[in-house]
Amino acid sequence: MTEIDYRNVTGLVHSTESFGAVDGPGIRFVVFMQGCHMRCQYCHNPDTWELVNPNARERTAEDVLNEALRFKMFWGRDGGITVSGGEATIQIDFLIALFTLAKEKGIHTTLDTCALTFRNTPRYLEKYNRLMEVTDLVLLDIKEINPEQHRIVTGHSNKNILACAEYLSEIGKPVWIRHVLVPGLTDRDEDLIKLGEYVKTLKNVERFEVLPYHNLGEFKWRELGKPYPLEGTKPPTKERVENAKRLMDTETYQDYLNRIRS
Ligand code: SF4
Repeated sequence: MTEIDYRNVTGLVHSTESFGAVDGPGIRFVVFMQGCHMRCQYCHNPDTWELVNPNARERTAEDVLNEALRFKMFWGRDGGITVSGGEATIQIDFLIALFTLAKEKGIHTTLDTCALTFRNTPRYLEKYNRLMEVTDLVLLDIKEINPEQHRIVTGHSNKNILACAEYLSEIGKPVWIRHVLVPGLTDRDEDLIKLGEYVKTLKNVERFEVLPYHNLGEFKWRELGKPYPLEGTKPPTKERVENAKRLMDTETYQDYLNRIRS
């Protein structure tokens, strides 16, 4: 079998960010990969959706790693490299290459994924497990626990995403679960409680975060000539964010049913 030269594996990179502070622990170099099959109504990177984009650049793993290493001095003990998107796992060979090279240098690696591509099949897992061997942390978005609502929010089923969450729990891979809270779309009490209950069944969750919706990506939809589905939607109030955290953290679905029936 020929040995793969990971340095020359290429990926289509949308952009990079030198000082990411919200994409994993510490300060991180963030690589945004091109391509995503989801169509989240609140997406702030719709310019990453198309699998081919003239503004994205085909780059080698070595080239991206070398760019990241220029910022290593800022990472401290916790920081490192995060690969995000788009949906990064569409380009899984590139991720394996980049993270393998990064781990050879002792760098902390984080994968930010929506997990739509995940399949719990031997064929898929062969590659996914290779990726997990060189991934320290997974940031996994659960956009909606309610399957019908998930389709409304993203255009897709949440089946693969939940299968991924359960698989990562099974193999004990550290995960941060994130839920974007959008008023009127992903903030229904009943679903938040069910999401909280679901997350409690997973054995590997280091953090469970509510990310309040913001509309900072709205201008990108306009630039692309796409109507923004959440036009006029405001970020959730502090009270709604607190409500979500409380429901997901403490209330069981049965408590909830008892409360609304009393
Ligand atoms: S998964 Fe991420 S990049 Fe893809 S549409 Fe949703 S928010 Fe946008």
